[in-house]
Amino acid sequence: MSIRSEDYTKVVHAGVEPDPRTGAIMTPIFQTSTYVQSAPNEHKGWDYSRAGNPTRDALEVAFAALEGAKYGLAFSSGLAAEQAIIQILNPGDHVLVCDDVYGGTGRLFRRLFAKYGLEFEFIDMTKMENIAKAIKPSTRMIWVETPTNPLLKVIDIAATVKLAKQAKALLVVDNTFASPIYQSPFELGADIVMHSTTKYIGGHSDIIGGAVMVNDDKLYEEIKFVQFAAGAVPGPFEAFLLLRSIKTLAVRMAKHSENGLEVAKFLSQHKKVESVFYPGLPSHPQHELAKKQMRGFTGMVSFNLKGSYEQVVTTLQKMKVFSLAESLGGVESLVNHPEKMTHASVPEAMRKHLGIGPNLIRLSCGIEGTPDIIADLEQALS
Ligand SMILES: *Cc1c(COP(=O)(O)O)cnc(C)c1O
Repeated sequence: MSIRSEDYTKVVHAGVEPDPRTGAIMTPIFQTSTYVQSAPNEHKGWDYSRAGNPTRDALEVAFAALEGAKYGLAFSSGLAAEQAIIQILNPGDHVLVCDDVYGGTGRLFRRLFAKYGLEFEFIDMTKMENIAKAIKPSTRMIWVETPTNPLLKVIDIAATVKLAKQAKALLVVDNTFASPIYQSPFELGADIVMHSTTKYIGGHSDIIGGAVMVNDDKLYEEIKFVQFAAGAVPGPFEAFLLLRSIKTLAVRMAKHSENGLEVAKFLSQHKKVESVFYPGLPSHPQHELAKKQMRGFTGMVSFNLKGSYEQVVTTLQKMKVFSLAESLGGVESLVNHPEKMTHASVPEAMRKHLGIGPNLIRLSCGIEGTPDIIADLEQALS
């Protein structure tokens, strides 16, 4: 259970070559929309920044390196990345989605893409027989988010790959929560990996972004065409900030993970806590699977507090190191109330079924000192 030493090196150098003109060690921000041509359609490889931009190109090489993939593609948000993946499908195609997905993913599929003749079916993917039963001839894609948000369920990627292959469906993994440092879906056979780079990859709560990684040439061409034709691309400045963030991804993840585990242990012993969700705890129902397919468990910890909703709110308001805010994966600790915040768009019956209720709190442990984080929870819970 630890970070591969080569990953510390990889993140520092991923995608970055000294600028050939100046020798600048950092990739310049090419803040330009267009490029001068010497004759019609004769240029240096770039013609318009929706199609390509040198800063974004470096980022896309870095994305590919992070997941050990052949190709990377950058998008203006995690949801824009998801949109591009879904847009390679055709009306009538059936997509199986794990039931505990990020609220915005469910909203995109249910409220937007369902209008265009695509069929989405949300199922509990912690049991392989559920997937096997739900596959039908029109199933073209299986969408896995693991660990899930906010309940940190773990889905067996390698076993799902087998079912996807039999069905000739594409297996997509939303790897946002684990980060490329702690989980490598391509090594388990996934076809497409995506990230909301707003979270751990960005890591500083200052950008919105998304990434798609693939190995297959044809799949790359299809998704790249959507990126170019629909245009949900990041600007050069966001691309630069991400290149900068990626260099510290491994060291940040190490501290997030250390804090996450200590917080999970602290909460599981606390008398005001009903239940704790953290794949790194031996009490987690899929702890063995988590140890098999992950190399660490990140800073994401969810728990149910005992008491009334008012007491839950008071506890949230008393926290000082943790700020009450949406999002996750930044260097500063954040606390979120999924029912009222990130997962408010999930249909109520689904929330009840999943166990996202008034007492559920989700923590994104930052990289502050461990004793300060624990002390903050201690005073807020007292
Ligand atoms: C935040 C998030 C998304 C959506 O990404 P945005 O950058 O907010 O568009 C998708 N999946 C997961 C797991 C997320 O946490």
